[in-house]
Amino acid sequence: MIIMKFGGTSVEDARAMENVVKIVKGEQGRNPVVVLSAIAGATNALLRSARIALDGNLERAHAELNVLLERHVTLLENLIDDRSEVQQLILIIRKRLDELKTLCQGITILGELTNRSLDAVASVGEQLSTLILSRAMAVRGLPVELIDARTFMITDGQFASAAPDFGQITQKAQDSILPVLRSGKIVVTQGFIGSTPKGITTTLGRGGSDYSAAIIGAALGAEEIQIWTDVDGVLTADPRIAPAAMKLKVISFREASELAYFGAKVLHPSTILPAIEKNIPVIVLNSKRPQSTGTRIVGNPPKSNAVVKSIASKKGITVINIQSSRMLMAYGFLSSIFSVFQRHKTAVDLVSTSEVAVSLTIDNTSSLELIEKELREFAEVSVYEQKAIVCVVGEQMRSTVGVVDRVFRALNDVNVIMISQGASEINMSLVIDENAVTRAVQQLHREFFEPVPELDLFEQVDA
Ligand code: ADP
Ligand code: ASP
Ligand code: MG
Repeated sequence: MIIMKFGGTSVEDARAMENVVKIVKGEQGRNPVVVLSAIAGATNALLRSARIALDGNLERAHAELNVLLERHVTLLENLIDDRSEVQQLILIIRKRLDELKTLCQGITILGELTNRSLDAVASVGEQLSTLILSRAMAVRGLPVELIDARTFMITDGQFASAAPDFGQITQKAQDSILPVLRSGKIVVTQGFIGSTPKGITTTLGRGGSDYSAAIIGAALGAEEIQIWTDVDGVLTADPRIAPAAMKLKVISFREASELAYFGAKVLHPSTILPAIEKNIPVIVLNSKRPQSTGTRIVGNPPKSNAVVKSIASKKGITVINIQSSRMLMAYGFLSSIFSVFQRHKTAVDLVSTSEVAVSLTIDNTSSLELIEKELREFAEVSVYEQKAIVCVVGEQMRSTVGVVDRVFRALNDVNVIMISQGASEINMSLVIDENAVTRAVQQLHREFFEPVPELDLFEQVDA
């Protein structure tokens, strides 16, 4: 069996959905489990409606939900010919959104919006897209069953970024999905959403459908995990920043993890872990150009002479400099710093130390004030916001001299605030000002990929 995950832009309108039906039909013989995102922009619209309700503007919150209803209705009318089927589905969708309107009313009245409510609201996007896709398949004569992900995707209660319980998921997914596949049906289910053991809806965090696909793939022992999106695969940079970006035919799990972690949105950062565990190849494919072969992400790809494979970037980074003249090199200083971050559940991305200071970066600033306060109890602290990480990735960087030199030559007019070469030695990360990211990525791309290196690894992307 295989997992086929389709992202928001792959189901943004009737034409895109029709295309998804065709792509899935082409793989029918391989027992696909289809994992779906909400239609493009739906999750944002849903979350916006809840936040507007919190601001007290219930009318605008309802208007936001009405627009979303209209988008789904238009999609349905253009996708399914059978009038009575369409009417029935519109009724269901209207009912779901009416429930959200009531929830928004509660948010306005209470003046309170918890992550638990946000998850309940956000989860509706995937519920609607999967309902529509599964019906569109059924009316076209495909054997299909829609399985609610909340029946098997069991998570903890950390709403908005819930952690999956792999043991329970494996058991439940095998029990509910495998018999359906065995009966010859295609399974459709939601990405992104899950449930606590008590049945409260959770989500895995923004962009989490990729992660859902990988978790389900690992739970069922899939032969491959296909991630269908709006670009040809994993590229040498974000094509929105570097238009000359090329497709990579194959990369390693390790390279993909680093890229995803440092901002390549094409994959959710947690996607690769379950795949590594079960050694399941992940293939990134373009639903707009299904004939393209995509990028294969595997444990041990054939060795390539390409030193740098891709460049990622992540904005919204905060740098914290911590100095202590008294204790700096003292035993326990670093551990007292990190215990502050641990207490506030804040992940540290990059760390560098010098004789006089420790610098580190975070992207979650929700507890920054408290962290600063606690650090100031034993050190001097300065905080710099609106920074970004630019990260150069490639397995061969480990054994090649001169890469650092080329990176700095390419960035000779960019102010580099911090440097960190990952312990894995397959990435080099630089912290720069947020407003220099575009220029930095473009200049690095020019240095390493323009003109196109004559290697079998790269493939030009057709415009
Ligand atoms: P989906 O809705 O299918 O999950 P996303 O928008 O989450 O799609 O991810 C796809 C986008 O990721 C692309 O449109 C592209 O702009 C961006 N991206 C960033 N870095 C890369 C990269 N290295 N390779 C490919 N795409 C990238
Ligand atoms: N729909 C969710 C989001 O927009 C999950 C996903 O698309 O991966 O974050
Ligand atoms: Mg995504």
